[in-house]
Amino acid sequence: MQQLSDSGAIDLDSIEIPADTCCNCGSKDGLSIVPTPLKKTRFMLLGGTELTLMLGFPYCSGCAVSASKHAIGTLGKLLIAFMIFWVLIFGVIFLPFDLASFLPGVMLPLAMFSVAIAITLGYFRLRRPTPPRTSVDQPVMLRGVKQMFSGDIVGLRLGFSNEAYKREFEAMNQMQMLSGALSTESVG
Ligand SMILES: [Zn+2]
Repeated sequence: MQQLSDSGAIDLDSIEIPADTCCNCGSKDGLSIVPTPLKKTRFMLLGGTELTLMLGFPYCSGCAVSASKHAIGTLGKLLIAFMIFWVLIFGVIFLPFDLASFLPGVMLPLAMFSVAIAITLGYFRLRRPTPPRTSVDQPVMLRGVKQMFSGDIVGLRLGFSNEAYKREFEAMNQMQMLSGALSTESVG
């Protein structure tokens, strides 16, 4: 069994995918293989690059929609908090009382920023999945890519929200895990 091509690049077809349980909720009923776009964005000084790998994972009918929902990262959450912050700052103008006189100087923007962070965190906490579903977003995601200058991908780190599914994946890909071509982590 060939695990890696001569150049050391990972052959995506050689990755074994456990197919008997939903990779999100663990159900064994009504499964279908859904193409799951695994994305990794790298931010650089001027813009960024995005890498998308397509891998098919088994989903039950209820979880199939989560396959293409990408989790919002820390930067995205900060942007959301920042937008809420500005909405709050402009909202202050329309208050029937002068909030700025209660909170002088930088106190007002600081207070508004704290409220914006709290709203954002609260929103993402409310978005948590209902068990046995393990993720509202993709249950499998690309957490890291090791890429050569030639563009060849020599290492992938996949994140799994379903711990049992992760262990099954690891067991099926032991060789690639040992060689360092594949690594896993728990997310969510
Ligand atoms: Zn499911």
